[in-house]
Amino acid sequence: EKKVLASSAKDLSPSYDWFQTDSLITVVIYTKQKDMNAELVIVDCQDKQLRGEIIIDDHSYLVEVDLDHAVSEDVAVNIAEKVGKVEIILNKKDNIHWKMLGQPREGHNTFIKRTDRGLFYRKCKLVSKTEVTHDTKLFCLMLPKGTHLCVPTGQHVYLKQIIAGTEVVKPYTPVLPFLPLDFQEPPRHGGVHIYLMIKIYSHGLFTQALDHLQIGDYISVSNPEGNFKKSQVQTSEDLLLLAGGTGFTPMVKLLNFALTEVSCVRTVKLIFFNKTEDDILWRSQLEQLALKDERFEVQFILSQPSKDWVGKQGKISSSLLSEFVKRSRRDSKVLICICGPTPFTEQGVQYLKDLGYSQEEIHAFTA
Ligand code: FAD
Ligand code: NAD
Repeated sequence: EKKVLASSAKDLSPSYDWFQTDSLITVVIYTKQKDMNAELVIVDCQDKQLRGEIIIDDHSYLVEVDLDHAVSEDVAVNIAEKVGKVEIILNKKDNIHWKMLGQPREGHNTFIKRTDRGLFYRKCKLVSKTEVTHDTKLFCLMLPKGTHLCVPTGQHVYLKQIIAGTEVVKPYTPVLPFLPLDFQEPPRHGGVHIYLMIKIYSHGLFTQALDHLQIGDYISVSNPEGNFKKSQVQTSEDLLLLAGGTGFTPMVKLLNFALTEVSCVRTVKLIFFNKTEDDILWRSQLEQLALKDERFEVQFILSQPSKDWVGKQGKISSSLLSEFVKRSRRDSKVLICICGPTPFTEQGVQYLKDLGYSQEEIHAFTA
């Protein structure tokens, strides 16, 4: 007798269950994954609506219900990483027995391609706005109490505003509040604040509206997106970061991650292209980090320097790259990340390929 081994999508799909005590509702999601972590779990609970999304590779599982009764604002999320069990713990407002968890919403209990799951937005409060340079500011947004969300290294979010009656959406890459780098968000409060470094363009549609937000105003922030894989860094010995202008933003968490969490990293080099000295973001923090951590080096290259600039000048070119992009050892594993204006990134990738770097050794951040 032959046994037929069948594996259907249903077997791989997560499932959920729920329990209650007098005061608590616990929703349990069995992800069937052995390496769950906080970055893969996004929970929003507001106004009797619960939404819990689990990211599994390029798929998304969703629990989405209109809760049967009211719950308080604070929500706890526990993740048993090795078992792949995610618990969402809600506090009942009233000690009554719930007959059901709630009414299922459209996406409830579905397991679909991530790209087919529309972006979810929640309103975040602007808590501070600090100057970084003459035209760039660090915006600090606070997530609502019922939201659990961490933006992974290398990923961006979308901000949404209504401008002159029309919804406008633009991507931005969260950074850290400051550079080095002993800084670790305590896990309990992790994800409470999102920091965005944003250049305000004098004729920019979205950034002008952003600049006019007042402290205490709200703006919609989406779930994270992006195709960068942390594992690309986890195996590299030399990390090279090529940034143009605000293309620096994805490099911030990358730098932090490489220098604090990747044991095989030997060198991290940032080659930072800007127009003028005044445009360099976090210059003194970068210089201090280079002094403090001997694995880290930074090179500033200006395309429109004043005449007293003694450093390097020019735009991205084959000769500049061959001078600065090098392996620390002949056979060392490198990862080169590049981000900036589209022509900068496209030319950079081409020059790197001409210099003999392979597709796998290059990650370009693009739209
Ligand atoms: P727009 O109204 O689109 O115009 C911007 C400026 O450029 C204006 O001065 C305009 O006159 C000029 N301009 C517009 N189009 C052109 C053109 N085709 N050629 C020449 N000039 C033009 N930005 C950040 O500051 N920080 C970030 O962290 C960040 N992360 C990003 C992540 C991703 C994945 C991507 C794709 C972009 C990111 N950006 C980031 C850029 C951001 O999304 C916006 O494009 C930027 O803020 C400009 O928006 P805006 O509506 O103000 O400007
Ligand atoms: P900028 O105009 O100040 O230019 C910074 C440097 O980039 C210049 O000094 C020059 O060296 C180089 N550069 C600019 N235009 C170039 C060109 N045509 N060819 C070659 N090199 C060029 O830059 P900015 O205003 O800060 O803009 C940053 C760009 O980075 C924006 O287009 C933004 O959308 C992009 N960005 C993308 C991401 C992402 O993840 N995809 C993230 C952040 C920023």
